[in-house]
Amino acid sequence: MEDEILLQLEHVCKYFYSNSVVSSKKTCIKAVDDVSLSIKKNQTIGLVGESGCGKTTLGRTILNLYPATSGKIIFEGKEIQDLSFNEMRNYRKEMQMIFQDPYASLSPRRTILQSLEEPLELFGIGTKKERREQAVSLLEEVGIMKEHFEKFPHELSGGQRQRIVVARSIILKPKFIIADEPVSALDVSVRSQVLNLMKRLQKSYSLSYLFISHDLSVVRYLCDRVVVMYLGKIVEIADKKDLFETPLHPYTQALISAIPVPDVDHKVERIILEGDLPSPANPPSGCVFRTRCKYAKDICSECVPELKNLGGTHEVACHFAGEI
Ligand code: SF4
Repeated sequence: MEDEILLQLEHVCKYFYSNSVVSSKKTCIKAVDDVSLSIKKNQTIGLVGESGCGKTTLGRTILNLYPATSGKIIFEGKEIQDLSFNEMRNYRKEMQMIFQDPYASLSPRRTILQSLEEPLELFGIGTKKERREQAVSLLEEVGIMKEHFEKFPHELSGGQRQRIVVARSIILKPKFIIADEPVSALDVSVRSQVLNLMKRLQKSYSLSYLFISHDLSVVRYLCDRVVVMYLGKIVEIADKKDLFETPLHPYTQALISAIPVPDVDHKVERIILEGDLPSPANPPSGCVFRTRCKYAKDICSECVPELKNLGGTHEVACHFAGEI
Protein backbone atom coordinates (compact mmCIF):
# COMPACT_ATOMS: atom_id res chain seq x y z
CA MET A 1 0.00 0.00 0.00
CA GLU A 2 2.88 2.34 0.93
CA ASP A 3 4.36 1.88 -2.56
CA GLU A 4 1.14 2.94 -4.28
CA ILE A 5 1.58 5.98 -6.49
CA LEU A 6 -0.58 8.91 -5.39
CA LEU A 7 0.48 11.54 -7.87
CA GLN A 8 2.23 11.23 -11.18
CA LEU A 9 3.55 14.01 -13.40
CA GLU A 10 4.34 13.18 -17.02
CA HIS A 11 6.30 15.71 -19.07
CA VAL A 12 4.59 18.65 -17.35
CA CYS A 13 5.41 22.11 -18.74
CA LYS A 14 4.26 25.49 -17.53
CA TYR A 15 5.16 28.36 -19.82
CA PHE A 16 4.23 32.01 -19.35
CA TYR A 17 4.05 34.41 -22.27
CA SER A 18 4.77 38.11 -21.98
CA ASN A 19 5.03 40.97 -24.47
CA SER A 20 8.59 41.68 -25.53
CA VAL A 21 9.80 45.30 -25.22
CA VAL A 22 12.11 44.98 -28.22
CA SER A 23 9.95 43.12 -30.74
CA SER A 24 6.34 42.29 -31.52
CA LYS A 25 7.01 38.65 -30.62
CA LYS A 26 5.84 37.29 -27.29
CA THR A 27 8.55 36.10 -24.90
CA CYS A 28 8.10 32.56 -23.63
CA ILE A 29 9.23 31.94 -20.06
CA LYS A 30 9.71 28.24 -19.43
CA ALA A 31 9.10 28.20 -15.68
CA VAL A 32 8.58 24.41 -15.63
CA ASP A 33 9.96 22.43 -18.54
CA ASP A 34 9.27 18.73 -19.12
CA VAL A 35 9.01 17.58 -15.50
CA SER A 36 8.17 13.93 -14.80
CA LEU A 37 8.02 12.46 -11.31
CA SER A 38 5.86 10.35 -9.07
CA ILE A 39 4.93 10.64 -5.42
CA LYS A 40 3.88 7.62 -3.39
CA LYS A 41 1.38 7.42 -0.56
CA ASN A 42 2.83 8.54 2.80
CA GLN A 43 5.99 9.77 1.09
CA THR A 44 7.70 13.13 1.57
CA ILE A 45 9.45 14.49 -1.48
CA GLY A 46 11.76 17.46 -1.09
CA LEU A 47 11.92 19.89 -4.00
CA VAL A 48 15.07 22.01 -3.89
CA GLY A 49 16.86 24.59 -6.00
CA GLU A 50 17.69 28.30 -6.08
CA SER A 51 14.96 30.97 -6.09
CA GLY A 52 13.53 31.27 -9.58
CA CYS A 53 14.20 27.63 -10.54
CA GLY A 54 10.46 26.86 -10.87
CA LYS A 55 9.77 25.07 -7.55
CA THR A 56 6.77 27.17 -6.54
CA THR A 57 5.39 27.26 -10.09
CA LEU A 58 5.52 23.47 -10.19
CA GLY A 59 3.63 23.29 -6.86
CA ARG A 60 0.95 25.64 -8.13
CA THR A 61 0.68 23.78 -11.43
CA ILE A 62 0.08 20.50 -9.58
CA LEU A 63 -2.78 22.18 -7.72
CA ASN A 64 -4.09 23.50 -11.05
CA LEU A 65 -3.79 27.06 -9.72
CA TYR A 66 -1.72 27.53 -12.89
CA PRO A 67 -3.11 25.26 -15.63
CA ALA A 68 -0.28 23.20 -17.16
CA THR A 69 0.78 24.24 -20.67
CA SER A 70 1.27 20.58 -21.59
CA GLY A 71 1.86 17.19 -20.01
CA LYS A 72 -0.22 15.08 -17.67
CA ILE A 73 -0.94 15.42 -13.96
CA ILE A 74 -2.45 12.17 -12.71
CA PHE A 75 -3.85 11.97 -9.18
CA GLU A 76 -5.01 8.55 -7.96
CA GLY A 77 -5.15 7.32 -11.54
CA LYS A 78 -7.19 10.27 -12.88
CA GLU A 79 -5.84 12.93 -15.16
CA ILE A 80 -6.76 16.26 -13.60
CA GLN A 81 -7.14 18.05 -16.94
CA ASP A 82 -10.11 15.71 -17.62
CA LEU A 83 -11.93 16.43 -14.35
CA SER A 84 -15.40 17.98 -14.34
CA PHE A 85 -16.14 21.07 -12.22
CA ASN A 86 -17.37 18.95 -9.29
CA GLU A 87 -14.48 16.51 -9.55
CA MET A 88 -12.06 19.43 -9.56
CA ARG A 89 -13.67 20.72 -6.35
CA ASN A 90 -13.04 17.34 -4.76
CA TYR A 91 -9.50 17.28 -6.11
CA ARG A 92 -8.84 20.61 -4.40
CA LYS A 93 -10.11 19.08 -1.16
CA GLU A 94 -7.65 16.20 -1.46
CA MET A 95 -4.72 18.56 -2.00
CA GLN A 96 -3.79 21.51 0.16
CA MET A 97 -0.99 24.02 0.20
CA ILE A 98 0.93 25.55 3.11
CA PHE A 99 2.57 28.84 2.24
CA GLN A 100 5.71 30.46 3.59
CA ASP A 101 4.00 33.35 5.33
CA PRO A 102 1.42 32.08 7.85
CA TYR A 103 0.21 35.62 8.51
CA ALA A 104 -0.84 36.07 4.88
CA SER A 105 -2.57 32.65 4.88
CA LEU A 106 -5.03 33.56 7.66
CA SER A 107 -7.80 36.12 7.43
CA PRO A 108 -7.05 38.99 9.84
CA ARG A 109 -10.80 39.37 10.46
CA ARG A 110 -11.45 35.79 11.55
CA THR A 111 -10.67 34.26 14.90
CA ILE A 112 -8.51 31.15 14.93
CA LEU A 113 -11.55 28.91 15.42
CA GLN A 114 -13.42 30.59 12.57
CA SER A 115 -10.39 30.13 10.29
CA LEU A 116 -10.45 26.40 11.00
CA GLU A 117 -14.22 26.11 10.54
CA GLU A 118 -14.25 28.00 7.24
CA PRO A 119 -13.05 25.20 4.89
CA LEU A 120 -15.58 22.77 6.43
CA GLU A 121 -18.32 25.33 5.92
CA LEU A 122 -17.29 25.95 2.30
CA PHE A 123 -17.52 22.23 1.54
CA GLY A 124 -20.80 21.87 3.52
CA ILE A 125 -19.27 19.37 5.92
CA GLY A 126 -21.04 18.67 9.25
CA THR A 127 -23.37 20.77 11.36
CA LYS A 128 -22.24 23.99 13.06
CA LYS A 129 -21.67 22.05 16.27
CA GLU A 130 -19.72 19.28 14.53
CA ARG A 131 -17.54 21.81 12.70
CA ARG A 132 -16.74 23.53 15.97
CA GLU A 133 -15.86 20.21 17.63
CA GLN A 134 -13.61 19.22 14.75
CA ALA A 135 -11.83 22.60 14.76
CA VAL A 136 -11.31 22.49 18.53
CA SER A 137 -9.95 18.94 18.45
CA LEU A 138 -7.52 19.75 15.64
CA LEU A 139 -6.28 22.91 17.34
CA GLU A 140 -5.63 20.89 20.47
CA GLU A 141 -3.81 18.28 18.39
CA VAL A 142 -1.41 20.88 16.99
CA GLY A 143 -0.75 22.27 20.46
CA ILE A 144 -2.78 25.50 20.45
CA MET A 145 -4.05 26.34 23.95
CA LYS A 146 -7.75 26.93 24.56
CA GLU A 147 -7.23 30.57 25.53
CA HIS A 148 -6.00 31.33 21.96
CA PHE A 149 -9.04 29.92 20.15
CA GLU A 150 -10.94 33.23 20.03
CA LYS A 151 -7.87 35.31 19.22
CA PHE A 152 -7.02 36.88 15.88
CA PRO A 153 -3.84 35.99 13.90
CA HIS A 154 -2.01 39.21 14.86
CA GLU A 155 -2.33 38.30 18.55
CA LEU A 156 -0.25 35.12 18.11
CA SER A 157 3.41 34.32 17.45
CA GLY A 158 4.74 33.21 14.05
CA GLY A 159 5.15 29.61 15.25
CA GLN A 160 1.58 29.48 16.59
CA ARG A 161 0.24 30.95 13.35
CA GLN A 162 2.09 28.36 11.26
CA ARG A 163 0.77 25.53 13.46
CA ILE A 164 -2.75 26.89 12.86
CA VAL A 165 -2.08 27.00 9.10
CA VAL A 166 -0.89 23.37 9.26
CA ALA A 167 -4.09 22.44 11.17
CA ARG A 168 -6.19 24.29 8.59
CA SER A 169 -4.47 22.43 5.76
CA ILE A 170 -5.52 19.05 7.16
CA ILE A 171 -9.02 19.86 8.39
CA LEU A 172 -10.51 18.57 5.13
CA LYS A 173 -8.50 15.34 5.53
CA PRO A 174 -6.48 15.71 2.32
CA LYS A 175 -4.12 13.04 1.01
CA PHE A 176 -1.47 15.36 -0.32
CA ILE A 177 0.02 18.63 0.93
CA ILE A 178 2.36 20.97 -0.87
CA ALA A 179 4.37 22.90 1.70
CA ASP A 180 6.13 25.88 0.12
CA GLU A 181 9.02 26.97 2.38
CA PRO A 182 6.77 26.42 5.44
CA VAL A 183 9.43 27.15 8.05
CA SER A 184 11.74 29.64 6.36
CA ALA A 185 9.90 32.67 7.80
CA LEU A 186 10.04 31.28 11.35
CA ASP A 187 12.63 31.73 14.06
CA VAL A 188 15.13 28.89 14.18
CA SER A 189 13.88 27.97 17.67
CA VAL A 190 10.35 27.16 16.45
CA ARG A 191 11.26 25.58 13.10
CA SER A 192 11.82 22.14 14.57
CA GLN A 193 8.47 22.30 16.39
CA VAL A 194 6.62 22.85 13.12
CA LEU A 195 8.70 20.19 11.29
CA ASN A 196 8.06 17.65 14.04
CA LEU A 197 4.38 18.50 13.97
CA MET A 198 4.29 17.88 10.21
CA LYS A 199 6.04 14.53 10.71
CA ARG A 200 3.59 13.51 13.43
CA LEU A 201 0.53 14.51 11.39
CA GLN A 202 1.85 12.64 8.37
CA LYS A 203 1.72 9.41 10.37
CA SER A 204 -1.69 10.08 11.92
CA TYR A 205 -3.37 11.20 8.69
CA SER A 206 -1.40 9.13 6.10
CA LEU A 207 -0.28 12.23 4.25
CA SER A 208 2.11 12.66 1.34
CA TYR A 209 4.08 15.90 1.22
CA LEU A 210 5.81 17.83 -1.51
CA PHE A 211 8.15 19.92 0.60
CA ILE A 212 9.54 22.92 -1.30
CA SER A 213 12.64 24.43 0.25
CA HIS A 214 15.97 26.04 -0.47
CA ASP A 215 17.26 24.77 2.89
CA LEU A 216 18.85 21.37 2.35
CA SER A 217 19.35 20.64 6.03
CA VAL A 218 15.59 20.87 6.57
CA VAL A 219 14.99 18.66 3.54
CA ARG A 220 17.50 16.14 4.87
CA TYR A 221 15.62 15.98 8.15
CA LEU A 222 12.10 15.62 6.76
CA CYS A 223 12.17 14.02 3.31
CA ASP A 224 12.40 10.47 1.96
CA ARG A 225 13.36 11.45 -1.54
CA VAL A 226 14.77 14.64 -3.07
CA VAL A 227 14.21 16.32 -6.42
CA VAL A 228 16.71 18.98 -7.53
CA MET A 229 15.48 21.59 -10.02
CA TYR A 230 17.47 24.03 -12.08
CA LEU A 231 15.92 26.52 -14.49
CA GLY A 232 12.59 24.69 -14.72
CA LYS A 233 14.09 21.24 -15.21
CA ILE A 234 14.79 18.32 -12.90
CA VAL A 235 18.54 17.67 -12.88
CA GLU A 236 18.66 14.95 -10.22
CA ILE A 237 16.26 12.73 -8.24
CA ALA A 238 17.32 10.24 -5.60
CA ASP A 239 16.43 8.77 -2.25
CA LYS A 240 17.67 11.07 0.51
CA LYS A 241 20.63 8.93 1.56
CA ASP A 242 21.93 8.53 -2.01
CA LEU A 243 21.52 12.19 -2.82
CA PHE A 244 23.31 13.51 0.26
CA GLU A 245 26.05 10.86 0.27
CA THR A 246 26.63 10.59 -3.48
CA PRO A 247 25.37 13.66 -5.33
CA LEU A 248 26.05 13.07 -9.02
CA HIS A 249 25.01 16.30 -10.73
CA PRO A 250 27.49 19.20 -10.44
CA TYR A 251 24.66 21.51 -9.38
CA THR A 252 23.58 19.18 -6.54
CA GLN A 253 27.23 18.82 -5.52
CA ALA A 254 27.47 22.62 -5.21
CA LEU A 255 24.23 22.87 -3.20
CA ILE A 256 25.31 20.14 -0.80
CA SER A 257 28.78 21.62 -0.34
CA ALA A 258 27.09 24.82 0.91
CA ILE A 259 25.31 23.11 3.84
CA PRO A 260 26.92 24.32 7.09
CA VAL A 261 28.75 21.53 8.96
CA PRO A 262 28.64 21.80 12.79
CA ASP A 263 31.89 19.81 13.25
CA VAL A 264 34.91 22.17 12.80
CA ASP A 265 37.26 19.19 12.24
CA HIS A 266 35.12 17.91 9.38
CA LYS A 267 35.67 20.57 6.74
CA VAL A 268 33.92 20.20 3.37
CA GLU A 269 35.31 22.05 0.37
CA ARG A 270 32.69 24.54 -0.70
CA ILE A 271 31.91 24.66 -4.42
CA ILE A 272 31.14 28.23 -5.42
CA LEU A 273 28.90 28.59 -8.44
CA GLU A 274 29.98 31.43 -10.70
CA GLY A 275 27.37 33.75 -12.21
CA ASP A 276 23.62 33.99 -11.75
CA LEU A 277 20.78 31.71 -12.72
CA PRO A 278 20.17 32.43 -16.45
CA SER A 279 16.80 33.85 -17.48
CA PRO A 280 14.13 31.19 -18.18
CA ALA A 281 13.09 33.47 -21.09
CA ASN A 282 16.43 32.74 -22.73
CA PRO A 283 17.78 29.46 -21.35
CA PRO A 284 21.18 28.14 -22.53
CA SER A 285 21.09 25.58 -25.36
CA GLY A 286 21.79 21.95 -24.49
CA CYS A 287 22.30 21.51 -20.77
CA VAL A 288 20.68 24.41 -18.91
CA PHE A 289 23.43 24.30 -16.28
CA ARG A 290 26.34 24.54 -18.72
CA THR A 291 26.99 28.30 -18.24
CA ARG A 292 27.92 27.63 -14.60
CA CYS A 293 29.36 24.15 -14.87
CA LYS A 294 33.12 23.68 -14.60
CA TYR A 295 32.91 20.31 -16.39
CA ALA A 296 31.06 21.62 -19.48
CA LYS A 297 32.30 20.31 -22.86
CA ASP A 298 31.12 20.89 -26.44
CA ILE A 299 28.40 18.25 -26.25
CA CYS A 300 26.83 20.11 -23.30
CA SER A 301 25.84 23.06 -25.51
CA GLU A 302 24.62 20.81 -28.31
CA CYS A 303 22.48 18.12 -26.62
CA VAL A 304 19.98 18.30 -23.79
CA PRO A 305 20.97 15.62 -21.24
CA GLU A 306 18.10 13.25 -20.50
CA LEU A 307 17.29 12.20 -16.94
CA LYS A 308 19.00 8.77 -16.83
CA ASN A 309 18.72 6.08 -14.18
CA LEU A 310 22.14 5.41 -12.73
CA GLY A 311 21.15 2.45 -10.63
CA GLY A 312 18.50 1.97 -7.95
CA THR A 313 16.30 5.01 -7.76
CA HIS A 314 18.98 7.56 -8.61
CA GLU A 315 18.32 9.60 -11.78
CA VAL A 316 20.60 12.31 -13.15
CA ALA A 317 20.50 14.65 -16.16
CA CYS A 318 24.18 15.08 -17.06
CA HIS A 319 26.19 13.74 -20.00
CA PHE A 320 29.03 12.88 -17.65
CA ALA A 321 27.13 11.66 -14.58
CA GLY A 322 29.10 9.06 -12.70
CA GLU A 323 32.38 10.28 -14.24
CA ILE A 324 32.69 13.62 -12.44
FE1 SF4 B 1 27.91 20.10 -16.68
FE2 SF4 B 1 27.71 19.09 -19.12
FE3 SF4 B 1 26.81 17.71 -17.06
FE4 SF4 B 1 25.55 19.88 -17.87
S1 SF4 B 1 25.77 17.98 -19.01
S2 SF4 B 1 26.00 19.33 -15.80
S3 SF4 B 1 27.21 21.17 -18.49
S4 SF4 B 1 28.93 18.29 -17.46
